[in-house]
Amino acid sequence: MRLILLGPPSAGKGTQAEMLVKRFGLLHLATGDILREAVAAGSSLGKKAKKFMDTGALVPDAIVIGLLEGKMKSTQSQTGFLLDGFPRNQDQVKQLEGFTDIDLVLCIEVDFSKLVERAIGRRVCRTCGSVYHIKFNPPKQPGICDKDGGPLYQRDDDTEEVVKKRLKTYEDQTKPVIHYYETTGKLRYVEGDGTIEDVQNKLLAVLVEQWPQLKETAYGPMPVAKPAPAPHALKPVQPQPSQARPQGQGQPHGGGHRRGRRRRGRGKNFSRFGQKPQNKSQ
Ligand code: AMP
Repeated sequence: MRLILLGPPSAGKGTQAEMLVKRFGLLHLATGDILREAVAAGSSLGKKAKKFMDTGALVPDAIVIGLLEGKMKSTQSQTGFLLDGFPRNQDQVKQLEGFTDIDLVLCIEVDFSKLVERAIGRRVCRTCGSVYHIKFNPPKQPGICDKDGGPLYQRDDDTEEVVKKRLKTYEDQTKPVIHYYETTGKLRYVEGDGTIEDVQNKLLAVLVEQWPQLKETAYGPMPVAKPAPAPHALKPVQPQPSQARPQGQGQPHGGGHRRGRRRRGRGKNFSRFGQKPQNKSQ
């Protein structure tokens, strides 16, 4: 499962992504979280990134991709990955395509008029990262995480002023990415209004539609210790001879991948994901 999850700021990507990665044992690569970790660590990349994040702009690609590579090096998954909030502009799409194919792009849609309220009421646990909302998903005790008792805080970029800029950035830079994925046939929109469980069920329905064999895993109880196996291991994209595949025969991907074209001359920045093609001529 090679998934991308996109959507405007505070559409609920992080919450939904957490549930999906837990259910399917996927590697969760959330560039916003990775950047915040770098900021919290006080690294030089983190300090540079914060200036952009605080204004609602995108962090320059070199910084995002550098940090993403670091995360990829230190974490592995045999079942697949979910990119959460990446790619967010067209250059990032190109970088990603040089490295891997993507099976499905999920886009959570929420009415723009609701996003500011969602963002400014959001609170995050400082220790475990769990996300709450003071009105829509409040913790049992105000300011305290239900899961680990950690203190809840408001992100610096969840102020009204910055959220409006983030929405503008999304319109200008990320919407074209979404439109691009529409043309590939891999994009699925999911309505992001409703409860967390409603939205999760809609996402699961999309995944089951794509991979019917996931039905039990998707609707069974959430795995507690070991994640349930996903349909196929994360592996490097290999060039495929242009060969028609018999329909419906155990192929977990959506159809229509344009593998050969996508791989040429791109993506050197992702070489550390452990998936760089062995064949240097690609
Ligand atoms: P998020 O947690 O996804 O809302 O991201 C918070 C902020 O991190 C964004 O407003 C951007 O400044 C930055 N950011 C996250 N992901 C990316 C990305 N893929 N490219 C550039 N900047 C990003």
